Amino acid sequence: MPASSRARVDSAYGRTLESAAAAVISETIRIAEIPAPTFREQARAAYVRQRLETIGGWADLHTDSLANVVAVRRGEPGRTRVLVCAHLDTVFPDAATPVTRERGKLIGRGVGDNSLGVATLLAVAEALQQAAPSGIGDLVLAANVGEEGLGDLRGVRRLLKDHAGDVDAMIAIEGHALNSVQTDAVASLRYEVSVETDGGHSWGAYGRPNAIALLARAIVALEALMPAVGATPKVTMNVGVVRGGRSVNTIAPDASFELDMRSADTEALQRLYQAARAAIRAAVGGDGKLSIRRIGNRPGGHVASDTPIIEAVLGARAASGLGAPEFRASSTDANAAVAAGLPATCIGVTTGGEAHTPREWIRTAPIKQGVPYVGRAIAAAASLPGGTAAQTGRR
Ligand SMILES: [Zn+2]
Repeated sequence: MPASSRARVDSAYGRTLESAAAAVISETIRIAEIPAPTFREQARAAYVRQRLETIGGWADLHTDSLANVVAVRRGEPGRTRVLVCAHLDTVFPDAATPVTRERGKLIGRGVGDNSLGVATLLAVAEALQQAAPSGIGDLVLAANVGEEGLGDLRGVRRLLKDHAGDVDAMIAIEGHALNSVQTDAVASLRYEVSVETDGGHSWGAYGRPNAIALLARAIVALEALMPAVGATPKVTMNVGVVRGGRSVNTIAPDASFELDMRSADTEALQRLYQAARAAIRAAVGGDGKLSIRRIGNRPGGHVASDTPIIEAVLGARAASGLGAPEFRASSTDANAAVAAGLPATCIGVTTGGEAHTPREWIRTAPIKQGVPYVGRAIAAAASLPGGTAAQTGRR
């Protein structure tokens, strides 16, 4: 196809996306009003599935056993195949999630995180079927489960496993993140450390080992390993919860703490974990029964800002009249893709605040630029020659 007609097709795609803002706002309200707490996303998934059926034209459309909804669009061979995800789940257990509309704002549980992300995914799906730009690779569009909290990224992990050979890059859509582009994926490791002893009466059994005292030794030993504030790579460690003991006159038979460690540098994180485990073991010694149990593991990694997929996103910003973003370290569905070795990022549609509270709100005006931006970023990533999406900068 000559360049002039290619430009015409591409601008038809851009115009379709630009005219979608009003529809995206009403779609955001419909989606937000279907409750979707993590592990109970089925009703919202069924709605999204039905919308994708109406749009039609998919090479495959299915809902997997976790309730991830997946639509596959076949593109040109030899181009980058992109997995696009918008998470369905919210942190709210509520049965009702009403949305109110005020001047220039939508207010409600999960409006931006992530009903707007899902509504944008649907708008891009529709624009692709109506006016796809030329020369883009396969797209796997997914409204996925399990992004928040204890979901531990189970939805996207499943998608990455099921599509391991079919995708070369990944883009996550989050409603609130218009002004930032995720480059660093902050990994976290969480452990429950517990100590048990025989315990006994504080007078009668005096002299036996005390689980609280042993645990305290372990915490003091961790203090010495705390990474310096301001050091690069940033690595953090926190003892967030302590429990234990029975009564003031009982030698404590048990005690435990919860430990959280984070970094975008997964090797540094592993080194800290190894050092922490050795220090805890040495501190407790043979005086108590020690257990170190993993209670959380979010993967992470780094995508350089000159990676082609990030450059594709920056080009889409410019084409949509958006300024330079903040490159951000965060924890999203893109983390799992980065950890799986794919170039991946998370981008957004508008701005707002109070996410994860009932007062959550988003601005409606930026959606007019945000939807075309996300649609162009997806098309630009998918138009990269196959095998180049990850070419530079990864470490
Ligand atoms: Zn989110």
